[in-house]
Amino acid sequence: MNQPHTSSQLRAVQKKLLVAAITAVACFSLPAFAQDLPPPATEMTDVQWRVLEKRISDRANEIANSRNFFEDDRRPIVVQARIERPSNVLVLEVDISFGKDVGSLELEDFMSYVRVGMEDLTGLIPGFTTTDWRIGGYDMDYWFNQIIPEGERLGRPAGHFSSAQAARAKVVVAAGHGAYFHTKYKWTMQRERVNGVLEDEITTIFAKELSYSTERNGADPIRIRGGDVGLVHEPSGKPWNNMAARYFLENWRPNNPEIWNSKPESTDARREMHQDIRSRPLYANFIGADAIAHIHTNADAPSATGTRILVHPGRSRDFSLAQLALCGMKEAIHSDPQYANYTVPLEPSVVQDKGENSYATVPSMIVEVGFHTNLSDAKLLQDPNFQKLSMRGLAKGMRLFREGASCAPFIVKPSDPMTAVVGKDIQMPISISGNPVYPVHLISTRLDCPEGKKCSPTIKSVYNKKDADAYRFGHLCWRGDESKPPVEFRVEAKDFEGLRTTPVTYQIKCVKG
Ligand SMILES: [Zn+2]
Repeated sequence: MNQPHTSSQLRAVQKKLLVAAITAVACFSLPAFAQDLPPPATEMTDVQWRVLEKRISDRANEIANSRNFFEDDRRPIVVQARIERPSNVLVLEVDISFGKDVGSLELEDFMSYVRVGMEDLTGLIPGFTTTDWRIGGYDMDYWFNQIIPEGERLGRPAGHFSSAQAARAKVVVAAGHGAYFHTKYKWTMQRERVNGVLEDEITTIFAKELSYSTERNGADPIRIRGGDVGLVHEPSGKPWNNMAARYFLENWRPNNPEIWNSKPESTDARREMHQDIRSRPLYANFIGADAIAHIHTNADAPSATGTRILVHPGRSRDFSLAQLALCGMKEAIHSDPQYANYTVPLEPSVVQDKGENSYATVPSMIVEVGFHTNLSDAKLLQDPNFQKLSMRGLAKGMRLFREGASCAPFIVKPSDPMTAVVGKDIQMPISISGNPVYPVHLISTRLDCPEGKKCSPTIKSVYNKKDADAYRFGHLCWRGDESKPPVEFRVEAKDFEGLRTTPVTYQIKCVKG
């Protein structure tokens, strides 16, 4: 990912326009989403399609049998792969015995490993849109519906809250995983520590950052696990901070077991973990949240790296939310040069196999911040500066979604060289664009400081775009300056969230009046 900044921005803009056009169409016709992107110009021959299909099939089976994903070893597992044309959907099929695993983390992990492990190959499918799993011929929506039918997902009719309450958006911040009760192993975490990262733990740190940033972006975060709770969860004897969301929701909503105790008749040893996954979207639906962000870290082969955002197919709002979230994260993460090469794709991954998204009736996305299975990602995931930046970007993307705004980059526009008459004060604007969080600092620093003078930056705080546009900083050319090289200023801006623009240089040539 070493693209020059400007061309990748340009591509982002072009892609946004295209997606905006598609979204606009989608509003007035039957569901039509990114899957309907026009096929690319390069056509593949039938032979090429078959070769690619075969490679994908081989890889899928190799990954599926590379390790044991399930409590009871199911190997050998047969995965049938086919590319559906012209929709460019990769369909992966396993037998009906996997139906009973739907809603479990094991099956989600299995599907995720296969999907991510094939990204290089699916990337070769022209106009590739999504990987669609089928179990015994049925798609994942069918199976999720078997557990909680669509009509029972606790969706709240619009307009339930008074306008005063509705004035501030509610964002559910859901840290992934956490301790749960396993009938055999008793209280246990959902993940294991890898490269120093325990996903159940680290997601609460990201969630905290996301909550703070969400508030600064003008919405009310609702953290459904983690938080600064010093108390002990009595049944488990574990700190509350470790517990899965299901137990928080049980505590908050004891009279609504349909949120946290769905399918109580299940005899699966991991019943409460499955309930935990479902409780998150069900709660967001129940309170009529504006959006829910599920924070996770990812697992795959050690080489897999970077952020991924997953959304359920056929939901244009979720797709737009995720696109803006990715754009915000990319901007924030790449604003620090030490993370400039960190992979943040422009497009979400559309997948059908995630319960956290599937059961949501409000815009929902799974944010896989990085791969804890990758050594350098694991380091970043534990880096407080990266934690802050990534979540600032995510909060910003979610704000842009609420505002219906686009993801214009936060920049100071470059200025042509200027001329100033000796003895007259020249007044220069700092023209910013993008969607910063105000107040914004407009900063100008003289670069060629004259000898013996101290040139500290001039910092102006502005509280809205209008003030920013009205602001000018001055420079006075002295007699004799006309024979010197142009005066240079470094000009930049920094928003309330700490996001900095790339500095630009202003040049002023002093001339005789
Ligand atoms: Zn996870």
